[in-house]
Amino acid sequence: MNPMVKAEGVCKRFGRLEVLKGIDLEVQPGEVMCVIGPSGSGKSTFLRCINHLEKVDAGRLYVDGELVGYRQKGDKLHELRENEVTHKRREIGMVFQRFNLFPHKTALENLTEAPTQVLGESKASARERATALLAEVGLADKAGSYPRQLSGGQQQRVAIARALAMRPKLMLFDEPTSALDPELVGDVLEVMRQLAKDGMTMVVVTHEMEFAREVADTVVFMDGGVVVEAGPPERVIRDPQHERTKAFLSRVL
Ligand code: ADP
Ligand code: MG
Repeated sequence: MNPMVKAEGVCKRFGRLEVLKGIDLEVQPGEVMCVIGPSGSGKSTFLRCINHLEKVDAGRLYVDGELVGYRQKGDKLHELRENEVTHKRREIGMVFQRFNLFPHKTALENLTEAPTQVLGESKASARERATALLAEVGLADKAGSYPRQLSGGQQQRVAIARALAMRPKLMLFDEPTSALDPELVGDVLEVMRQLAKDGMTMVVVTHEMEFAREVADTVVFMDGGVVVEAGPPERVIRDPQHERTKAFLSRVL
């Protein structure tokens, strides 16, 4: 079985700023990887590379065995065309810090939009699945509500359900609870915990150490565009080996 994500020496720069300086890591199918690290260390950029939103400058990045951004023909690599990239991106769900739901659509319509418009699912089957997904994230009674009528935590759960409606093989989360009032964080983490239990492959950038400790198979500490250390949570969080990890953890724990 291919790793779901495999990074080999992934580098990314913006002009003269080197943001990723050779990232090596692997996420196996069904695994949850939590990425922690200070602001500016390149966490979001790395997720954006996985999701075809940024091109890597050097190294290789694979999703489910396929080189991101390229198609192989014989021994030659061809850059993917825009429509091919769009196609690939559908297989990956992404949830951002800010729940960017369609404001003029109900929760249910937010979930049925892409499956009907993009995947060509019938309205009836998309609605049925959307209803089930809203129930799974604890929002069965909010199907007809508009985003502005929902709390931040509820909106974020709709955003997760919306991503799941596309049947992704990989889910990326970029600080999904950082913009939420503290009392709303728990419900969102609970949905993510359940998703992990159900076997979804997930890469989660988070500052929620308790979540990382409980749910992650692997915790990766990034700083300054490199992976400083990676391993099971009980090692990286409880018994970090590097000074930089210790310093970071002492600030967030
Ligand atoms: P993190 O998510 O760990 O906080 P980011 O990946 O967002 O870090 O950013 C890493 C560095 O890259 C930061 O210095 C940021 O300012 C810079 N950066 C991110 N995106 C861009 C961009 N599109 N253009 C220029 N610089 C960027
Ligand atoms: Mg970020």
